[in-house]
Amino acid sequence: MQKSKNIFELDPERLATTDEDGHRVYLYPEKVTGKWHDRRSIVYWFLIGFYLVLPWININGKPALKVDIFHREFVFLGGTIHGVEPILMFLALISGLFFMAFMTSVFGRVWCGWACPQTVFIQSIFLKIEALIEGTPKRRRDLDVAPWNAEKILKRSLKWGIYLLISLHIAHTFVGYFVGPRDLLLMSLHSPLENWPLFLATMILTAIFLADFGWFREQFCLVMCPYGRIQSVMMDDNSLVVAYDVARGEPRTGTVPKGSEGDCVNCYHCVKVCPTGIDIRRGTQLECIQCTMCIDACDNIMDRLGKPQGLIKYASGSGKKHKVLTPRSTAYGLIGLGLLGLFFFSLNASTHLTLVFLRSKIPFTVTREGKVMNNFQLKLTHQGSTTPAIEFRIKEQNLSDKIEIITPNHPTIVNDADKKIMIFFRFDPTILVGGQVKATVQVEDALTKTMIAEKEVSLVGPDH
Ligand code: SF4
Ligand code: SF4
Repeated sequence: MQKSKNIFELDPERLATTDEDGHRVYLYPEKVTGKWHDRRSIVYWFLIGFYLVLPWININGKPALKVDIFHREFVFLGGTIHGVEPILMFLALISGLFFMAFMTSVFGRVWCGWACPQTVFIQSIFLKIEALIEGTPKRRRDLDVAPWNAEKILKRSLKWGIYLLISLHIAHTFVGYFVGPRDLLLMSLHSPLENWPLFLATMILTAIFLADFGWFREQFCLVMCPYGRIQSVMMDDNSLVVAYDVARGEPRTGTVPKGSEGDCVNCYHCVKVCPTGIDIRRGTQLECIQCTMCIDACDNIMDRLGKPQGLIKYASGSGKKHKVLTPRSTAYGLIGLGLLGLFFFSLNASTHLTLVFLRSKIPFTVTREGKVMNNFQLKLTHQGSTTPAIEFRIKEQNLSDKIEIITPNHPTIVNDADKKIMIFFRFDPTILVGGQVKATVQVEDALTKTMIAEKEVSLVGPDH
């Protein structure tokens, strides 16, 4: 049976989510309201919209957000960056990491408390569903230890059934970031065997989300999250932390004779609401995800006592005035900006051209002179800052003087655009083997004489 314990029964010197034997103790934080709760809720629901809805919106026939690794395309709000090279992906990733380091060095674990999908989904959706079905934290603890009667079976089945549906949606959306959620939806209407790798990936992700958001919860932050481990390296004494004002709060009520106490009335509200079960009065701890719930809890108590808010508050680790720019944060920010600049420069400098040949309805014609003509519509898609004047040639030396390419003279194509042109191939039927011949069409920039794309095309004719 799952162990469940009131937080007050725990030894404060031990990890709050384990019992005397090291077994998991399931936490049920109390609900809290307040100004930080309201601010967080707005951010959480905005992010949920971003995570779950944005990829499903179509703009110009494309998902609003899609990272197509297979075709090296990045689609965002109707715009497409084609031919994103691995080095560009690396630059984008590494500059993102430096910006994260900047944010961490200035604002501490702001990611964990305000934007991590783990916190956002658990706090905004999974915990709310649990509270709705199973009631207050006390009722949930009682249900944990209750025998498996009809009420418990009904409540747990309902809760896990809804969790499963939400996890399925999150997993489909996540996979949809890479293949397009509408394509994924269409695939899921067919047999899983037709697209079994994607089906398997989606099911594995669903199981992971279900287990993590429904059951594992704060344990992920405490024992698994790599970012949680490395961020202490990025923080310094100036970084913002959620901190208890020891000078004002101590000695707390009940530890000294009446009349000589500080402002802390030892009510434990800050502990009751903490999703990782810690007591912030013991100082900054690795388990603190800076969710600000203890700030709201304590502010509510201070309001009731008629004392000023802020016994628990955001403060710099040193207790001195918080600064945004320190040598460390400036270094992180400048490196991040430099890498981002390099990313855009490289993206702009790279020219990428894709060719799609669409054969006409009549595969070939034979001219009065006995030559064979093949006619295609050629779709050119271009990414790059240059406007190349295009010239075509056949790559294979044994074919280059035997196949004549007829196109508009030096068509040009501007950045991030599609262009369709007609292209004809005229050749002697003697080069055909079994009625066809394969040739590689190379595209050269007529101005710079650099080769920018090539594509194999199959030419057909009479099979004598
Ligand atoms: S100590 Fe406060 S800010 Fe830190 S995790 Fe607990 S409730 Fe959130
Ligand atoms: S909520 Fe405030 S007053 Fe109550 S125990 Fe925590 S710090 Fe003390």
